[in-house]
Amino acid sequence: MIVDSHCHLDHFDAEERPAIVARAVAAGVTRMVTIGTRVDQAPAVKAIAERFPEVWGTVGVHPHQAGDGAMPTVEELVALADHPRIIGIGESGLDYFYDKSPRDVQREGFRRHIRAARAAGLPLAIHARDADEDIAAILREEREGGAFDFLLHCFSSTPALAEAALGMGGYLSFSGILSFPRSTELREVAARAPAGRLLVETDAPFLAPVPHRGKRCEPAFTALTCAVLAQARGVAPDAMAAQTTANFFRLFQRAGGGP
Ligand SMILES: [Zn+2]
Ligand SMILES: [Zn+2]
Repeated sequence: MIVDSHCHLDHFDAEERPAIVARAVAAGVTRMVTIGTRVDQAPAVKAIAERFPEVWGTVGVHPHQAGDGAMPTVEELVALADHPRIIGIGESGLDYFYDKSPRDVQREGFRRHIRAARAAGLPLAIHARDADEDIAAILREEREGGAFDFLLHCFSSTPALAEAALGMGGYLSFSGILSFPRSTELREVAARAPAGRLLVETDAPFLAPVPHRGKRCEPAFTALTCAVLAQARGVAPDAMAAQTTANFFRLFQRAGGGP
């Protein structure tokens, strides 16, 4: 069993979704998490998670959308997450590569999501791109207000941010980027991280792993990324699947403790 800890099923056509979930299950990816990116998209996430027993959801506002409207308050985020199929907060974080929202707005949104994760007792899925120092600094500052669980999704940042996150008890989730030929440093980070802190994901429909690179990605491909992770760490693919699945259920407790 493999869990796709981060995908965007709302990006696929509704008519096609049953086949996409079925292909994932056939590939051993029997559970997946479809991710919140906007407040007005939360009902769609919940509907998908209600429709498919294999799918859970999260609620949050992506840093790209942070400047689009009123950022929800901590209380609003906690209320939005009060649903049996919602098992996490996010994605939130900082994206200084695209800079689609003003940076101060992104930072304020990120802090609110951290506080909501803490208040709701749910893990936070963090999106981090070209913002390593601010991500680490905000995580450190916010921890003074009390512990919270988090993962760095689609991890592709520096070894320094990996180390900082792991030092704060965080998890790293690897996507298809891990399979790209140039991702040598990333595979080294993945090889060195503690086995108990690793997750896998697709971020579908984006970032398809080799040999599907450049094409549309779907949750079934999590198995390919899990195999690359296994190879980087010198373990059997089945053992890597079991380890990342156990890690997933330890972090996402509302998912119910596993198969
Ligand atoms: Zn993201
Ligand atoms: Zn995403």
